[in-house]
Amino acid sequence: MILVVVIPLSNLDPAAMLKCALSTGLALALFTAPSPGPQDDQPGYDDTPYLPGGTWRVHDKARPRPSVVTPADGANLLARPPADATVLFDGTDLSQWKGGPWTLVDGALEVNGKGSIETVQHFGDVQLHVEWRSPPTVESESQGRGNSGVFFFGRYEVQVLDSFENPTYADGQAAALYGQQPPLVNACRAPGEWQSYDIVFIAPRFDGDELVSPAVVTVVHNGVLVQHAVELIGGTAHRAVATYAPHGPTGPIMLQDHGNPVRFRNIWVRAL
Ligand code: MG
Repeated sequence: MILVVVIPLSNLDPAAMLKCALSTGLALALFTAPSPGPQDDQPGYDDTPYLPGGTWRVHDKARPRPSVVTPADGANLLARPPADATVLFDGTDLSQWKGGPWTLVDGALEVNGKGSIETVQHFGDVQLHVEWRSPPTVESESQGRGNSGVFFFGRYEVQVLDSFENPTYADGQAAALYGQQPPLVNACRAPGEWQSYDIVFIAPRFDGDELVSPAVVTVVHNGVLVQHAVELIGGTAHRAVATYAPHGPTGPIMLQDHGNPVRFRNIWVRAL
């Protein structure tokens, strides 16, 4: 912080100079003292690298949080798969998944601390429908509340989090492209209520080690558009700027075990 003080050199008597010095000192103290700012008690970081564009840091605590939009009751829940969809989870069959294994309970898959799960089949460009539910009993806060995630190619995350009255850094809340792009609005339902994501994921293209075109992501959360054709800057990273590592044209869809008993149901995908 550079404070420029302009002091007129003429017409200053000693009393005025003293007064000026005192007020300048007070101003300097006000400018330099580590007084708590409005963001200091907010979750997030002020020491991470800047994202491209230079406005916000990764997980920036000062980045504005999206406004809340209450979705319509039941919007986009229990959407049935069209004829050309691959059903990844219908409430009973776990054969499309490996890893974990997660717990099958009340027609849902529940995170249980045994690790993330991913699809046996690999996909490229897709339309994905998935429903999730954060635990009805609220425990912890910020990133510790109902954290999971939907990862395309096992590396590009659409964040799953209980973001209902649960402040966290903007690029880490529900439906954020984690560490990169906050959702346009916060359309989260209350803990214990089922929620839907309808995601269009266009995979990045590589020519050898060269990135030809980035991944492009669109997300509808509970019937509300929250990400519109956003270009990813790379594979999901924590406290670091994402970068791309070349990969093939298809990869698994992964659901994250982040230690919270989040449930998933009604998962289907269409290859585009
Ligand atoms: Mg997550």
